[in-house]
Amino acid sequence: MIAEIISTGTELLLGQIVNTNAQYLAKKMNELGIDVLHQSTVGDNPSRMAEVIAHALERSDLVVTTGGLGPTLGDITKEVTARLLNRAMYLHKPSESRIRQIFASRNMLMPESNLRQAMMPEAAIIIDNDRGTAPGVILEESDKTIIHLPGPPQEMQWMFETAIVPYFRQRFGLQSVIVSRVLRTFGVSESALEEKIKDFVLAQSNPTLALLARSGEIHLRITAKGQTEAEATERIATLEQALRSRVGKAIFGIDDETLELVTGRQLSENNLTIALAESCTGGLVTSRLTDIPGSSRYLIGSLVSYSNQIKREILGVSEQILTDCGAVSEETAILMAKQVRERFMTDIGVGVTGIAGPDGATATKPVGLVYIAVVGAQGVECVKHQFSGQRTGIKQRAANAALFQVMR
Ligand code: ATP
Ligand code: MG
Repeated sequence: MIAEIISTGTELLLGQIVNTNAQYLAKKMNELGIDVLHQSTVGDNPSRMAEVIAHALERSDLVVTTGGLGPTLGDITKEVTARLLNRAMYLHKPSESRIRQIFASRNMLMPESNLRQAMMPEAAIIIDNDRGTAPGVILEESDKTIIHLPGPPQEMQWMFETAIVPYFRQRFGLQSVIVSRVLRTFGVSESALEEKIKDFVLAQSNPTLALLARSGEIHLRITAKGQTEAEATERIATLEQALRSRVGKAIFGIDDETLELVTGRQLSENNLTIALAESCTGGLVTSRLTDIPGSSRYLIGSLVSYSNQIKREILGVSEQILTDCGAVSEETAILMAKQVRERFMTDIGVGVTGIAGPDGATATKPVGLVYIAVVGAQGVECVKHQFSGQRTGIKQRAANAALFQVMR
């Protein structure tokens, strides 16, 4: 079965709104095992809409549209399809009374134009809208199916989940369930990671495996099909286990688990406290840590020791180290971490110092050079990084690396 999504609305063509409906439907339908092979967008123009819907009905078995079910004259989707399929429009009484009821319950007078929303093509299956006034419509024309859903995302999603998914299961006998899981990795390049797991990538069919680069991380997305959710989940678990033993600690989290979330969770589980002295990241690592609810359990505080004076006077980095080694050096990063740990009386101290650019670079210290030191009961670890990119990108990458280093 081939499926197509049509988004209607001139505001989509003008770029005034983002087409989240198409994204939502594509994701959900694919998860149900329906192959969405085409997507189109068309404005609120009868002839162009007719052309797009006719074309879709030629090449696809299932066509789902969103938008244009409202009460205004620009809302024409149902009328266009009715004309294409040679079906008359009639007033669907149950929808009429439903819409009247909605207005009465809001103590509002129903504009006559709202009756348009109860006008339906003959022989349509009508779907009640529990979140708004416009009912949805299903039209079956021999082996083709066309479904009209409202434009407002909340209404559309509600209708899809509660009415369309059960309809799909029944009409298309959908049995397969698709489950996916993302394994988030950090600190390995996409090519190195791919090299490591090449045999899995090549062997894939069910589950499938995809590598995606996402803001400094590489994600491994495993997608499995099964007759039941349990079967699909089991398939994922088997591949996940194999990937974990191959990739190791670079996999730090799954699905929505961010670096700051996993770092915080580990600190919390191990009853550890943390303090940070940040220079080039300007407090970004701390800010990321505080994005996680409950971070006060482990984050004691942080010092943005941006100037040499603060590094010297508050953190006790000696003038000699600042002159001999420099503010951006392993020695300074370690001292920052040690000192902040001592001053804030925490289990772990972190020091971050580097050159975010665009100026401040020297022959031996280029833009993007960052030292990150983590000091704890296990000892001292300082890692030298050479990041590329612009100032804010370098700060982001340094913050990612710092969070990951704490986690390990
Ligand atoms: P209404 O009764 O609100 O007029 P409708 O079914 O006629 O609903 P439209 O008029 O096409 O739908 O769209 C209504 C609103 O829904 C738009 O202004 C927009 O905010 C949102 N919307 C419509 N289509 C999309 C889409 N593809 N993606 C995201 N939002 C959308
Ligand atoms: Mg409308």
